[in-house]
Amino acid sequence: MCRICHEGSSQEDLLSPCECMGTLGTIHRSCLEHWLSSSNTNFCELCHFRFAVERKPRPLVECIVQQPGW
Ligand SMILES: [Zn+2]
Ligand SMILES: [Zn+2]
Repeated sequence: MCRICHEGSSQEDLLSPCECMGTLGTIHRSCLEHWLSSSNTNFCELCHFRFAVERKPRPLVECIVQQPGW
C-alpha cells in the first residue's frame, strides 16, 4: 500500500525508495514526486533518507524579490 495515497492498486509500481520498513516505505513513483515537490523537501520525514532528486533551477523571478531599497 502506498503511504501517500493509501492505495495498493497495481496500476503503478510501488517503490521502496528509502529505509523505512514495510508499509511505511512503499510509495508510488508519482506520489513520491508529487510529495517531494509539494513539501519542498528531498528527504524522508521518517528515516531522513535523502532521495536523489533532480531539481530544476529556480526561475529568475525568485531571485529578484526583496531587493534593498524597495
Ligand atoms: Zn500512491
Ligand atoms: Zn523513510
